[in-house]
Amino acid sequence: MASTALALLLPATMAICAIAFLVISRFNQPAAFAWGMGLGLCASGFAMPMIPMPVHANALISDFLFVAGFFFYAEAFLKHFSLPLYRRERIAFGAIYLIMNAYVVLKVESLHLELLLNDIANSCLLGFALVRAMNHARTRADRAVVMTGSIVVIDTLIRVLVFVYLTNSTDNLADFSLTTYAQAMQISTMLIGLLYVLSIAAALADRVFRQLRDAAERDPLTGLHNRRGFDRTLGDLGQSGKIAGAIVTCDIDHFKQVNDQFGHATGDRVIQALAFALRQGMPLNAITARFGGEEFVAFLPGASLAEAGILAQALRARFAAQNWRHIGVDRQITASFGVAAVAEDENSAEAATRRADRALYDAKAAGRNKVVWDGGNYEPGGAVVDIQRMFKDDARRAGDGT
Ligand code: GH3
Ligand code: MG
Ligand code: MG
Repeated sequence: MASTALALLLPATMAICAIAFLVISRFNQPAAFAWGMGLGLCASGFAMPMIPMPVHANALISDFLFVAGFFFYAEAFLKHFSLPLYRRERIAFGAIYLIMNAYVVLKVESLHLELLLNDIANSCLLGFALVRAMNHARTRADRAVVMTGSIVVIDTLIRVLVFVYLTNSTDNLADFSLTTYAQAMQISTMLIGLLYVLSIAAALADRVFRQLRDAAERDPLTGLHNRRGFDRTLGDLGQSGKIAGAIVTCDIDHFKQVNDQFGHATGDRVIQALAFALRQGMPLNAITARFGGEEFVAFLPGASLAEAGILAQALRARFAAQNWRHIGVDRQITASFGVAAVAEDENSAEAATRRADRALYDAKAAGRNKVVWDGGNYEPGGAVVDIQRMFKDDARRAGDGT
């Protein structure tokens, strides 16, 4: 009686966790759904020995539940890290396993072979997803969940190998519940499962927190950072001592007239177009933000004043030459730019942003559609500038998907 209660504890606990994750998945968390399904299927697999039914049928159903559970665990990891799902390949792998398993259970009738095959199939499914996910786990919570997933795989493999090769145990399918394997599985799954479930919850909470923070730090119209996001990102850079670089500020000229003449919706599209031009025209590591209205700010890490100024000149010229007929605007729209570099003795970009703002003000005063360098120059002053230097990391970044 006591042992029945104990045997129920594991599937019941797992089922509760599964339900919790399925509920969490309703808050736009697709990975939580897959983790919930995985836990639910494995919980059912653990409950199978308690269900009275013919031995072969019981074994086949249990094996199916576990392999389906691990299929969903893999799916959860791939989804959590936004990786390709390889569904067709994983389903094909599962189908081949199930055919082999039917042969082992119905024809060979070997408990050893059945467990070995099932655990290897489960480990392959989850192991594959973990290997794919490994390089994408950047936060502490993500690394922890990949680690506990790996512990699940290692535990699964060690347990079955010890049982099949190192213990002198029964090979009879009907004796499964009496084996050391079944007991070891109960205890290790309870402990490792707890760790696994907690790390999944932490990884999901961490993801939700980051999504909320990202939403609070982004401008919905352009997708660029808002002021809060810009300040926080630069604050982080300042703390890690990587604040060398230059600031470019930009404001569309006579934008009120654009709004008045063509309507607010058209004005919005001009703002979006300038945001797009900024992203396209700047290196990938640039931090770009919309500070409100039609004002933009960008931080160019490692750029000199002259480099940032030349880049701003190119942006200014391209924006001024842009054709707006597709949105019903039949005239030129221009923008003014201010540029300033972070001084060597400064540990934040705040003062440089103020200087760039003042330069932008000067550009407006000087007639607009201009770039003004901090210090009042309108041209780089003969500095030899290699713009490609700023973009040299872009190909590599694009290549590794960051
Ligand atoms: P200046 O050349 O001196 O910059 O002239 P300006 O008309 O652009 O002047 P200012 O920068 O003061 O005007 C900003 C205008 O931008 C005022 C406001 O109506 C408009 N605006 C602010 N936010 C938005 C927005 O989200 N969408 C649109 N369409 N217009 C906006
Ligand atoms: Mg303006
Ligand atoms: Mg403005």
